[in-house]
Amino acid sequence: MTPAFSVRGLTKVYGEGHSAVHALRGVDIDLPKGEIVVLLGPSGSGKSTLLNILGGLDRATSGTAAFDGRELTTMNDRALTRYRRDHVGFVFQFYNLMPSLTALENVELVTEISGDPMAPDEALRLVGLEERTHHFPAQLSGGEQQRVAIARAVAKQPNVLFCDEPTGALDSTTGRAVLQVLRDVNETLGTTVLIVTHAMATAQMADRVIHFADGAIREVVENKTKLSPSEIHW
Ligand code: ADP
Ligand code: MG
Repeated sequence: MTPAFSVRGLTKVYGEGHSAVHALRGVDIDLPKGEIVVLLGPSGSGKSTLLNILGGLDRATSGTAAFDGRELTTMNDRALTRYRRDHVGFVFQFYNLMPSLTALENVELVTEISGDPMAPDEALRLVGLEERTHHFPAQLSGGEQQRVAIARAVAKQPNVLFCDEPTGALDSTTGRAVLQVLRDVNETLGTTVLIVTHAMATAQMADRVIHFADGAIREVVENKTKLSPSEIHW
């Protein structure tokens, strides 16, 4: 089967000359479809840079990165926009919800411009928020707001869900509930899930853990004893 992503010699340099930052120093990896992959590494190691390039939000300096056999690094802006719209969902540390819209309306913002969306209330049911559809973000807890953000990201039925520090602003109990939702999405819809984090505990729920440091992969570990988020030791 074609991998979800096939990455070779990927580099990213921000700036130039003395102030140049080498955020990625040559990344090689194949990511199979349908897995939960956790990209683990210290702050500043280049995790978000890699996620943003694979998600079509940023461009590499050199090297190649293919999604399902289609090269991203040579796509023009239009093709990259279409790729993001049709195939990719994002979840960030801060939920980025529209404060003047209800949970349901925040999800509808995305389903209205998607080719093959699920019903917005179905997406909210998937994340356990069927009782909160008409609440505004300010009326929801942090964990609930993040679940709205996940519902919004999965409602367009993306192939890949990119999560950058999704539990970074949450306590461990709430974080666990959010990770459980990501696992439910992976199992129910078969979505490939890539979670970027510096929180080691998250690795316990992964199929595959990529240890990242200083812009490069140090080790890739297949997790034979994958835990459910409720079993994770923090
Ligand atoms: P991580 O997500 O692992 O914390 P990042 O990918 O955000 O790391 O950053 C990797 C390095 O690239 C850091 O040194 C960071 O300061 C730098 N960097 C990230 N984005 C930019 C940017 N837009 N301009 C300049 N430097 C950047
Ligand atoms: Mg980051």
